Amino acid sequence: MTARSTRAGQRPPFTATVPGFPRIGAHRELKKAIEAYWRDPALAPELADTAATLIDRRLTRATATGLDSVPVGTFSHYDQMLDVAAMVGALPARVDDIADHEPGSGSDPERDPSADDLLPTWLDRYFAAARGAEGIAPLEMTKWFDTNYHHLVPELDPARPFAADPSFLVAQLRRARRHHVPARAVLIGPVTFLALSKMADGTVGAPLDRLPELVDAYRDIVDAVADEGVEWIQFDEPALNTGHLPAGRDGEVSEQWRRLVVHAHVRGVRVLAQTYFTDAQRTVDLLSGTGVDAVGVDYVAGAAPDLSALPTSTLVVAGVVDGRNVWRTDCARALGALAEVAQSHPVAVSTSCSLLHVPHSLAAEPSLADEPELRARLAFGEEKIIEVVSLARALHHPNCERIRRNGILADAETAANEEQAEQTEQTERAGQPDPDASAAAVEHEVPRRKGGVHDRAPFPERREAQRRRLDLPPLPTSTIGSFPQTPEVRAARAAFARGESSAPAYEAAMVREILHVIDEQEKLGLDVLVHGEPERNDMVQYFAEQLDGFHCTSNAWVQSYGTRCVRPPILHGDVSRPEPMTVRWFRAAQDMTERPVKGMLTGPVTMLAWSFVRDDQPLADTAHQVALAIRAECEDLEAAGARVIQVDEAAIRELLPLRPEDRAAYAEWSVEAFRTATGGLADHVQLHTHMCYSDFESILDLIRDMDADVTTIEAARAGFELVDAIAASDFDLPVGPGVWDIHSPRVPGVDEVTARIDHASRALGPDRVWVVPDCGLKTRGWPETRASLDALVKAARKVRASL
Ligand code: GLN
Ligand code: ZN
Repeated sequence: MTARSTRAGQRPPFTATVPGFPRIGAHRELKKAIEAYWRDPALAPELADTAATLIDRRLTRATATGLDSVPVGTFSHYDQMLDVAAMVGALPARVDDIADHEPGSGSDPERDPSADDLLPTWLDRYFAAARGAEGIAPLEMTKWFDTNYHHLVPELDPARPFAADPSFLVAQLRRARRHHVPARAVLIGPVTFLALSKMADGTVGAPLDRLPELVDAYRDIVDAVADEGVEWIQFDEPALNTGHLPAGRDGEVSEQWRRLVVHAHVRGVRVLAQTYFTDAQRTVDLLSGTGVDAVGVDYVAGAAPDLSALPTSTLVVAGVVDGRNVWRTDCARALGALAEVAQSHPVAVSTSCSLLHVPHSLAAEPSLADEPELRARLAFGEEKIIEVVSLARALHHPNCERIRRNGILADAETAANEEQAEQTEQTERAGQPDPDASAAAVEHEVPRRKGGVHDRAPFPERREAQRRRLDLPPLPTSTIGSFPQTPEVRAARAAFARGESSAPAYEAAMVREILHVIDEQEKLGLDVLVHGEPERNDMVQYFAEQLDGFHCTSNAWVQSYGTRCVRPPILHGDVSRPEPMTVRWFRAAQDMTERPVKGMLTGPVTMLAWSFVRDDQPLADTAHQVALAIRAECEDLEAAGARVIQVDEAAIRELLPLRPEDRAAYAEWSVEAFRTATGGLADHVQLHTHMCYSDFESILDLIRDMDADVTTIEAARAGFELVDAIAASDFDLPVGPGVWDIHSPRVPGVDEVTARIDHASRALGPDRVWVVPDCGLKTRGWPETRASLDALVKAARKVRASL
């Protein structure tokens, strides 16, 4: 393959871009401004100014770095799906009565009032739809495809026609014009918007039935973009590939897209269809006859699509830089892939998806200053933009082929050294001098085994052994692990983390809190207790901080939803456990009570799902290493007297691949990892697992194969449908369907909880049901926790008495 002999002579309309930017601010400025505004609406001007500063900074940085097409419109006050809902008049009817937002004047007379345009009139209705308000339930929230970002699910009401209100997008485009930025308007595409929405309760039809009507509204948005003199518009259409588009809609999708493109062309606007997270073949096929001007393809997550159906003038925006992970790009390899595409189509270089999913910049991360070797392997958002620009320069350079061969981009390695350099890099990534030695070290412990390293007896035998040792009533009551993290608990942890309090003082504070939590649970009359997790900031980070092979950052924030951000640890090397991680807290708790206390761990799959994970070996191998570390912890907890151990796999559903054909392999390695982590436990130790945040009906087989003695699952919010699905399935192990939705401060009544327990007990049989809340209680306050758990225990007793 030689780039010189290609048709890439056709100069692409632009050469370097990204699908979208992180928007929360390198120091979470937007989070702080929005939360301040929620507390005090008089702070609207400050919010507007923060938004303007963040947007302006992005725009000027982007052009300075060398992007020649800059996404505008990827800034959001909460969520990009909700932005579109607001922009097409599809906020739910229940927020209608909330008054329009009026810009405040602010105290500074010198202030530039143009920033106020960034607070659209619908802002307060928008926030109410996102978070709920007095008497208003929020929209449902769910995972954005297979990422850790969560989007809101718009509820469509056929009685409310779509009506375009592009003011917020226009406000952003105007800022771009002030900075002379080559702007490209961006919003979620009509098919993806509908595919991820649902119908309002009590209405009939399917959201996709309204595609023609929505395309009309999108045409009005295109008009507004054209009026701003903006030449490009990008519609994100990941749902075309990800299995969210039901069969039988292809013709209609192509036809409506064609209408949209034709309209854009009439108005002099060119259209980019952006896809991501999996291979783009279906999009290419669906859109190749629509006249679309550019297609954005994820070359990291998916196999390269066959582009032959796409007219040779169509621009391919090639996402060769990983937008979801934090590793530097192998630029020589990326350049090879680009040159391949350039054989047939004009090419622009891009990241595989929006940079929403990675932290802002290495410069903002102080913890890496002492880790130069790790830092040299990393690229966050800002660095990825630089990679994109360098790749574009190299690709469009007359000597592209020589640059590629000489690996100038890959740290000036010569072609002869290229292979060797790659090998060294891989070795460094593994954090080990010798790859064979490292493999041997892991193998020496316990080799991977099909089905997991698992020696437990079949469930009926285990159940007997556990029954004798635990002596629990039917419908036993318990909780998921954490108890309210009061300001005092957080302050004690933070002071210790900053080195402002001594280890003994910190331990004493934690033990006091554990004593309090045990005391409360005994008073409430719960059967299986927990220590309450006061020492944990986060269920993944807590373990990552103590395991070798992980690096925990101090400022590498990534938006999880709305104003909530997380700092995923970076799993960069071989994982091992230098010493026990939870045993002393467990011991403290168990010493205080006769009742069983659960040892509480995070499972290997969830550790991976909520980290940035090395990409130089299969996930299954990495999962096995983490599993061995958890396994050692399980054994130590057992030795310390734990009669019940819970290994949380909150995220097991989340890593399920988007492509159906990849799912069997995932089920195999994820189950194997869980069984390796837990399979060393004696039969008389009761193994619990917990999962939440997803629909689990689709993976009941996988959960069955995990073979935990008790599985607790979030269920209250989804109206207990899960219980009926389990009853109808082959899943035959004990379950604790959450009977109290802990995501809301509302205290459930005894009757309501009784009805749920009764439902579960009838559907599944009373000897199979545990009575638990939906999830951990760390975000709740004590008053509602006490009241709700009291209702839960009373309700369990009521149903027990009726058995
Ligand atoms: N054990 C954890 C807790 O209670 C589980 C959290 C979760 O499932 N998200 O906080
Ligand atoms: Zn949970």
